[in-house]
Amino acid sequence: MQFYAEMRHEQLEAAYAQEMAHYEECKAKGLDLNMARGKPAKAQLDAVSGVLTVLTEPEDCIADNTDVRNYGELAGMPSARAFWAEILGCKPEQTVLGGTSSLNLAFDVISRAYTHGLLHSPRPWCKEEKIKFLCPSPGYDRHFRITEFFGAELITVPMTPEGPDMDIVEEYIKDPAVKGLWCVPKYSNPTGIIFSDETVRRFAAMKPAAPDFALMWDNAYCIHEFDGDYVEFPDIIGLCQQYGNGDMVYEFASTSKVTFAGAGVAVLACSEANVDYFLKLFSVQMISYDKVNQLRHVRFLKDKKHTLELMKKHAAIMAPKFKVVTEILEQQIKPCGFGNWFNPKGGYFISFDTMPGTAKRALALCKEAGVVMTPAGATYPYGIDPNDCNIRIAPSLPPVEELEMAMDVFCTCLKLAALEKLMNK
Ligand code: PLP
Repeated sequence: MQFYAEMRHEQLEAAYAQEMAHYEECKAKGLDLNMARGKPAKAQLDAVSGVLTVLTEPEDCIADNTDVRNYGELAGMPSARAFWAEILGCKPEQTVLGGTSSLNLAFDVISRAYTHGLLHSPRPWCKEEKIKFLCPSPGYDRHFRITEFFGAELITVPMTPEGPDMDIVEEYIKDPAVKGLWCVPKYSNPTGIIFSDETVRRFAAMKPAAPDFALMWDNAYCIHEFDGDYVEFPDIIGLCQQYGNGDMVYEFASTSKVTFAGAGVAVLACSEANVDYFLKLFSVQMISYDKVNQLRHVRFLKDKKHTLELMKKHAAIMAPKFKVVTEILEQQIKPCGFGNWFNPKGGYFISFDTMPGTAKRALALCKEAGVVMTPAGATYPYGIDPNDCNIRIAPSLPPVEELEMAMDVFCTCLKLAALEKLMNK
């Protein structure tokens, strides 16, 4: 097949007519398919539902000399803190287990920065004339929304195959109004890349002008490989400490995609000084988080080795879905000569760059045919992709058969939008 860019006008017209006929056929099926958000599939939730039954008797609720049904241990049960410390490679004293959502903990850190300041803030951020936040993009829309919500100016930093462009990051942090950066270091949302060792080292060694710069290190996919062996990652807290930056980093993770989404255990990991500071602030709003759930998770997940074994159950369900997506892109899009994507080995997303200027149109066509995708632009600050080309594909939720149908519609829509652009329709 000829690349679209090399086709004469009549050939483009013919290709368009053919794709449009297929599109109309798909539309007539009245599909209702969703590849919008990174939700675990029901089969994954079923595979880990043992977490519901590990505590059945009153005696089961006593652990670490604590009755988990009662108040206490604001930072989390010692055994649950030790569990997360083993996963993240940090110390138990460097963890705070806060409820069920890591995003909520990230929100709390930014919210406290605005109302009360961080440990080294000269004043609360709300008293600063201007706050700017670095947003490596494509990135996670919900991160960007938190800082947008508080009124920060969001600055796009390009992503490279090694992580955020560190030359650009190092320039921006010379501005004292730049107060932080969002990132997902392993199986990044949505690019699926893992930050290189050199990128991680440069992050740890940064010397931002702002004394209260917040490196928001969201390790949401730290143990989430679906293809191949577990990939080790560095302890960012220890690394920052080595460079004299121990209080700069806030690491987040949760079991949202290990056990239940939004009903697992979330962790904030940071320096001991930051743990003390945040516990003081959290103690105003909370007596203690849900230790019953923490104990359920410790009993069910046990330790890192056992948890990594369990992750293989998720991998067995996820891998065929990612394979469907990448194979269909390979078969349907590659021969047309446009589009770029990366085949990740873990995480929940595939980031697809279509022909510039056509992502919105392609997704509008998808929607009309009953296939819902993450809105075009969502992976950029303010929901605006300057090139209108990035689309996040989230294959985890639909069963494989539905995914095949959804991908067929998606590829048809990508082709239609690209052909329209080339024909100036
Ligand atoms: N962080 C990233 C990068 C995510 O992709 C997601 C969910 O998709 C979350 C956080 C949400 O995590 P939680 O359920 O722990 O709030």
